[in-house]
Amino acid sequence: MLIDCDTHVSSRGVGFEVTVDQLLRHLDEVGVQKAVCFPMVSYTREISADNRAIFEGAKAHPDRIIAFGGVNPRLGLAEATDELRRCIEVYGVSGIKMNGARDGYYIDDPVLSIPLIDRIAEAGIVLAVHCGANDFEKTHPYRIAKISERHPDLRIMVVHMGGSGEPNMHDAVIDLAARYPNWYLVDSEASYRKVHLALERLGPERICYGSDTPFAPMRYEWGIRQVVYQDLSEADKAKVFGENAGRLFGLR
Ligand SMILES: [Zn+2]
Repeated sequence: MLIDCDTHVSSRGVGFEVTVDQLLRHLDEVGVQKAVCFPMVSYTREISADNRAIFEGAKAHPDRIIAFGGVNPRLGLAEATDELRRCIEVYGVSGIKMNGARDGYYIDDPVLSIPLIDRIAEAGIVLAVHCGANDFEKTHPYRIAKISERHPDLRIMVVHMGGSGEPNMHDAVIDLAARYPNWYLVDSEASYRKVHLALERLGPERICYGSDTPFAPMRYEWGIRQVVYQDLSEADKAKVFGENAGRLFGLR
């Protein structure tokens, strides 16, 4: 089973954005069965429409879409809390994505972020966080470690594993991931040398393939990752390209 752990869906599909149906066509092109779907935007209140589109897509294609909701406390904590409740109780999401870089808040902010994360932990679903050098202060792995100290059982997808810009934070992510077994490192926008280091230090059980579609073209990302992981055994490749995510989401 192949799973892409970083895709973004939009309700509108304008410009380079993709709808659920367009995403499925991209997945079919590369022969990947399932995708973790995050909402496209959260700068605006469109995030509600995207969350709903992902929910509808997962309902229509339960075997293909792993639905994540998105929340943005910068739209107002009350609104974010309400959206979070809808994602958990009505949409039954597998997890929630939070992006402190794009939305402009510290991922461990005690007022803006932690109340939402407490609710995510309480619901027992997965938290996905952008961890990128494009805003290293707001998304630093040190802050993600604080979240894990508060919620040791919370499973966290560390999306970009400190990449998405230079100089990257991969070394810090790899160090801390050794301490927090519930971190799953998503390799999208990551340096291949550091992906290899993560494989060496943490083993192939902790790394998940993600394309970051449509911010990156899926066909190219898929092709590049075949090269990055070419020296792994078939069994280890299977882990990175799907089994690890399957374990994370309890898929059979
Ligand atoms: Zn992404």
